[in-house]
Amino acid sequence: MARLKVISGLNRKSAAIFLVEAAGKRVLFDFGDGLDKDEHPDIDVIGAVDAIFLSHAHRDHAGSIGRLGAVGNPCVFATARTLDFLQGSLPPGVAQVIPEQGSFEVGGLALTTGRCGHAPGGVWFHMETAAGGFVYTGDISLESRGMAFDYPPPASTLLVDASYGDRAQDLDDQIAAISDYAEGGAVLCCPSAGRGTDMVLALASQGHEVHVSADVGQEVEAATGRSFPVVDGKSAEPDQVIVATEPNAEAGLSAGLLQRGGFRFVFSSHVPNGTPARVLIERNEAVWLAWNVHPRKGDVIDLADHCGSRQVLPAFVDMTAAPELARALGARLTLEPETEI
Ligand SMILES: [Zn+2]
Repeated sequence: MARLKVISGLNRKSAAIFLVEAAGKRVLFDFGDGLDKDEHPDIDVIGAVDAIFLSHAHRDHAGSIGRLGAVGNPCVFATARTLDFLQGSLPPGVAQVIPEQGSFEVGGLALTTGRCGHAPGGVWFHMETAAGGFVYTGDISLESRGMAFDYPPPASTLLVDASYGDRAQDLDDQIAAISDYAEGGAVLCCPSAGRGTDMVLALASQGHEVHVSADVGQEVEAATGRSFPVVDGKSAEPDQVIVATEPNAEAGLSAGLLQRGGFRFVFSSHVPNGTPARVLIERNEAVWLAWNVHPRKGDVIDLADHCGSRQVLPAFVDMTAAPELARALGARLTLEPETEI
């Protein structure tokens, strides 16, 4: 028998930490940190674990890896690209490389990964269980132009990124809106190791001359071999279209340009409390325009149907605010913090 215990990540957008106990092992799927200022999950309740499987390098999925001692200093399994993004955060000898698409075994547990379409090197996980299999998607997107999504194998339990709840709008429409707004210059803020490449390619395909921060430029070149003009805090101009990290102007070139002043900012991520983005949006000094990096309502349903799942746990979302998704999932909807998988 295998059991899933949600440590954090159900009922709201927060740190992803999911404990699975199976075959005498205790393993974590993701080990994230909170997104709001000074928000941290209670990881002391977890106890020692045998392994941590990281879906991707974003803070809400990998941000607690600096505190491995709290969970018994286990090995951390992640793809080479995810480990690259986490460089310097892991103690020596802890990292174990897993494939972006493939199968591997850890302590008698049989796992499969596939590409998640959300972040470079990001993956979902499938684990074999006696009850019919378990899929943890991490963060996924089925709409990315530059990052592939592989459909997972059948699984009786699906723990799925449902961050957007009932949102049904298509990325193509969102790109058109952002492209219109960016006429005459804008700073499009994005996370490192995220949608930067997609944003650059989409805006370029709409006819914009796109400039990039140095880190975004490296990501685009690594993914596509194409190079775009790099600007920094001094050379950037307000009439340019600039794709820059970080997503809420809390760091990186976006923070530098905010400090310099005179730029129009477009935010499109989850906007945590206590960030410059939140303040600017509340003062009507910046806009928030959606850019899907998580599944739409229909994508979540498609995935649940595809996997043939009997129970579906929608992660990272307040389901009281997603009545259509709840209705569509019907009897499959599970919000229990502990369940057999
Ligand atoms: Zn993410």
